[in-house]
Amino acid sequence: MAECNHDCANCSSNCSDRTKPQSFLLPQNSKSKIRNVIAVVSGKGGVGKSLVTSLLASETARRGFSTAVLDADITGPSIPKAFGLKDKVTGDEEGFYPVCSSLGIKVMSLNLLLDNDSAPVVWRSPIIVNSVKQFWTDVIWGDVDYMFVDMPPGTGDVPLTVFQSLPINGIVIVTTPQELVEMIVEKAVRMADLMHVPVMALVENMSYLECPDCGKHIAVFGESHVEETAERFNIDTFARIPIDSDLSKASDSGIIERYYSNWLNAVLAKIGAVR
Ligand code: ADP
Repeated sequence: MAECNHDCANCSSNCSDRTKPQSFLLPQNSKSKIRNVIAVVSGKGGVGKSLVTSLLASETARRGFSTAVLDADITGPSIPKAFGLKDKVTGDEEGFYPVCSSLGIKVMSLNLLLDNDSAPVVWRSPIIVNSVKQFWTDVIWGDVDYMFVDMPPGTGDVPLTVFQSLPINGIVIVTTPQELVEMIVEKAVRMADLMHVPVMALVENMSYLECPDCGKHIAVFGESHVEETAERFNIDTFARIPIDSDLSKASDSGIIERYYSNWLNAVLAKIGAVR
């Protein structure tokens, strides 16, 4: 066996000097104490990932936990709109201060830094990736029980960076009935496996429409497959959210925190946000 040169990344020998794989975890800001980080992921845009992130954060805050949302969906940031945030992020030599929602949820999003929040973010991937890292390292989050990370859809550069750089406790996968659910879930599950992160729950959004007259559930986008999909991938917690015009109004008009529902109770129980 060749003499050890201590370069484990480029050597296949299993010698006694072999070091653990390199960790890419980034340190929190020295004034942050974040205890749980939950990433909310989806296969494609428009399935309600930001809405689910906002509902989870609102309910967690209502239950008395110190809550934060890191909006990693840099090119499609919709979290500030859902919470009706108008203030901009401030900062000093120690770091940036997130903007607080009416329930006290701390939010960091690119839109809270831009002068014109309707201007498109036409940035190359390394710049986007660095912004997300800075949202973790340079933001003074303070004491946080639960941080929800609104991920960009898919399995590209930014999700990979978040998985490698932040100490993610688990992911929540959001799909809709019309998506190719099995394939989307399989991709998310495989990515989570590669990153050694558990899948905490599967949420089927826009699952059905409740008839206002008879209460019957109408499968607008096709029959639900959430239960068997969760079973197939050994995900023990799933939830269904109906299509609800009050919900989209609340989210699109900045008052998502005033919307009460119990659809995500199982997910909240799974992540431990119970009192
Ligand atoms: P994503 O983050 O996956 O791109 P969003 O959360 O921004 O998706 O949702 C896209 C749009 O669909 C928003 O206008 C939102 O209000 C609406 N929407 C999402 N889920 C529902 C639902 N269950 N009922 C009605 N409207 C919904």
